[in-house]
Amino acid sequence: MSSPRVRFAPSPTGYLHVGGARTALFNWLYAKRTGGTFILRVEDTDRERSTDEHTRVILEGLEWLGIGWDEGPYFQGAYGERHRADAERLLAQGRAYRCFCTREELDAQRAVSEARKEGFRYDGRCRRRTAADVEAQIAAGVPSTIRLAMPDEELAWDDAVHGRISFQGRDLDDFVILRSDGTPIYNHAVVSDDIAMEITHVIRGDDHISNTPKQIALYRALGRAEPVFAHVPMILGGDGKKLSKRHGATAVGDYQDQGIFPAAMRNFLALLGWSPGDDREIMPEAEMIAAFSLEGIQSKPAVFDAAKLEWMNGQYLSATPAADLLAPVERQLERAGIAVKGQQLLPLIDAVKARSRTILQLAEQVAVRLRGPAALDAKAEALKAKMGESFAANLRRAVAALDPLPEAEWRPEPLLASLKSAAEGAGVKLGDAMQPIRVALTGSTVSEPVNELLAIVGRSASLDRMKAAAER
Ligand code: GLU
Repeated sequence: MSSPRVRFAPSPTGYLHVGGARTALFNWLYAKRTGGTFILRVEDTDRERSTDEHTRVILEGLEWLGIGWDEGPYFQGAYGERHRADAERLLAQGRAYRCFCTREELDAQRAVSEARKEGFRYDGRCRRRTAADVEAQIAAGVPSTIRLAMPDEELAWDDAVHGRISFQGRDLDDFVILRSDGTPIYNHAVVSDDIAMEITHVIRGDDHISNTPKQIALYRALGRAEPVFAHVPMILGGDGKKLSKRHGATAVGDYQDQGIFPAAMRNFLALLGWSPGDDREIMPEAEMIAAFSLEGIQSKPAVFDAAKLEWMNGQYLSATPAADLLAPVERQLERAGIAVKGQQLLPLIDAVKARSRTILQLAEQVAVRLRGPAALDAKAEALKAKMGESFAANLRRAVAALDPLPEAEWRPEPLLASLKSAAEGAGVKLGDAMQPIRVALTGSTVSEPVNELLAIVGRSASLDRMKAAAER
C-alpha cells in the first residue's frame, strides 16, 4: 500500500481557530506517524470572504505551532479549469444535469419547503428535461447551473472515529456542483481536489459529516474510490456549548500573544479529543507522534479548558532554561518601560519560573522584583487587615534585624539566620515574621522563599520597600 496522503484545507475567511489548528495537528500527527505526506490546501473559492491577510495569519499560526507541511500551500482557486472539467465530464456521462431554474423559481420552492417546516430540497424538475429542451435553453442563452443527479442508493462509510455512518441518496437533493458563472460549490471542489491530490485520509471536523454522503456520491460518479474519513468531534466551552468567542480567546494568535509556548499549545491541542490510551499529559513531540492513531480519537466532543492550557504551559516554562527565556522576558520588560537587560535577569527568571504559567506572568514577576509592587493584591490586603498592628511591627523588627547585614552578607543563608533569631527573640512565629516582608516586596502572599526573595531584590531596595510598607 502506498503511504497516506492527508491534507488540512482551511478556508481563509477568518483567523486560525483552535479547532482548525487541532484538525491540522491531527493530520500532521497522522502523516508523521505513518510516514505519509501532509498537504496544505487553502480553500479560497469564496472570493468575497477570503483574504490574503487571513491566509497569512493561518500559515503563520501553523508555522508558530511547528506544524510544517510537506506539499503546498496549494490554492483551490487555481484549479477552476479542473473543477469545470470534472463537472462537464459528469454532465457528459449523465451523472449530472443542467438546471435552468431561476432564482425566483428556487425561492418559490424554498418558500413551499419552509411552509411545510422542511429543509429545502431541490425538487429535481430539470432532471426530467428532454435533450431537445436542454438544447433549446442553451441556444436561447438561458444561464444554467450543473447539479449532481443524486443516486437512489445507500451512501455509507466506516468512519475511523465514529464507526459506520449511513445516509440514503433519496433523502438528499440534487445539489449544485457548478454555479452558472462556472465556479464550483464547496463539495465539488473538495472532491475534485482530493482526487487530484490523491488524498487517502480525510481528517476533518465532524461539522462536515452531512457533506460526506454528497462527497461519496461524487466519488462514485467520478468513478473513484473514496478516501478513509475520520470526523473529529467539536470543541466545546466549559458550558457544553460549541466553543466561541463568548468563552474567551479562540484564535491561535491570541494564545501566542498571551505568551503561551507553541509546544505547550500543540501538546494541549493534541489532547483535545485524542488520548494516547494512558494518562500521559506532558508529551514531547516525538512521543506524541509515536502514540498517535485515528482510533485514539474520541467520538465525544472535547471541552476546552483554558486553565489546563495555562497549567500545561507552566510545565513547559519550568522546564525551559532561563537563558532561553531571556529574549521574551526582555521584550515584555521593554514594553513595560523597564530597560534592564541581559545576564543580570537570569537569577530573577530562575527565581520566579516555577511559579509562573506564562511568559507574561513571569515577566511581570521579574518586573515586580526590579521595581516593587504597584499595589497589594486582594490576598495581601486581607492578610494585612487580619494582622492589624503586628503587620507593621513585624516589618520594623525585620528591618532592625537586617539593616546591620552588609551588602556582602545579603545572601539567602545569613538573611534566614537573622530573620529566625529576630523572630525567636520576639516570640513571633516565623511565618508571621516572613509574610509581611513578602507582601512589602512583591504585593503578594506567594513567592519564592522570603530569604531568597530578599537576596534577589537586593539590599537597598528590600529595606526601602519594607520601611515604606511599615509606614503605610
Ligand atoms: N474548507 C473546508 C473548511 O474549512 C474544508 C473542509 C474539509 O476538510 O473538507 O471547513
